[in-house]
Amino acid sequence: MPELPEVETIVRGLKSELVGQRVREFVFLSPHLEKKQLPGSFQPAAYEGRKILDIWRRGKMIIIKFDGQLGLLVHLKMTGQLFLTEPEQRIDRHTHALLRFYHLKKELRFRDIRKFGFLNCLALTQIEAKVDQNLGPEPLEIDLASWKWLLKTHGQKRLKNWLLDQKIIAGIGNIYSDEMLFRARLKPFRLAGSLTDQEATRLYRAMRRVLTEAISLKGSSISDYVDASGEKGRFQERHRVYAREGQLCPRCRQEKIIRKKINGRSTFFCPSCQD
Ligand SMILES: [Zn+2]
Repeated sequence: MPELPEVETIVRGLKSELVGQRVREFVFLSPHLEKKQLPGSFQPAAYEGRKILDIWRRGKMIIIKFDGQLGLLVHLKMTGQLFLTEPEQRIDRHTHALLRFYHLKKELRFRDIRKFGFLNCLALTQIEAKVDQNLGPEPLEIDLASWKWLLKTHGQKRLKNWLLDQKIIAGIGNIYSDEMLFRARLKPFRLAGSLTDQEATRLYRAMRRVLTEAISLKGSSISDYVDASGEKGRFQERHRVYAREGQLCPRCRQEKIIRKKINGRSTFFCPSCQD
């Protein structure tokens, strides 16, 4: 699933090309997207003639702001892709929506093999309310004191689950949680409330380092992730534990990386140098 660095990369790419563009056509190609619309939503045709004013990310979601206070909330979930492409490119059966513009040759397509993703056509105020209700603070915006406070107030959660809980902190998923915990030398089973002050600081720094580095390498391309122009990311080359089960730990070289399930999610860590 695309996490914060992947979604941030997509948003930056889309923003540079789409802000100021006016919609010529917006269509759903698959009925499942209509079924996922919420009460009060607009028809895609309502966006025609509207200009894109801004695009930003919140957690793992993409928000597109149009004039007339219209918005589009996009969640890519497992296999969703939102990218610009030449109109000559074949539209395959996994492409579920497209937007065409008056003064841009490329078109925006939403492609999703497993169909867990969604596009919600809502007023911007509704989107902002929904997002704020469901998501905790942004990890790259939160300060160290608030981070420590969140660890204490949700202290009964295991670190892995604490990092994955979008209501506590938004945007972190399975890959980056494992990479942060490895770099912070903390076991994923530890309770959030059990960290010393020093350990909490270590995790905060590891979180910032991992996310910042992953954004600079345009995310991790594990399965279907591509950026706004269809290119893959490169952070997967820097993964130290994720999907490296059975390989020697790159830090201590004492043990092999193991995989365990925590709340049904595969978790990779070193049994020797993470405390
Ligand atoms: Zn190790």
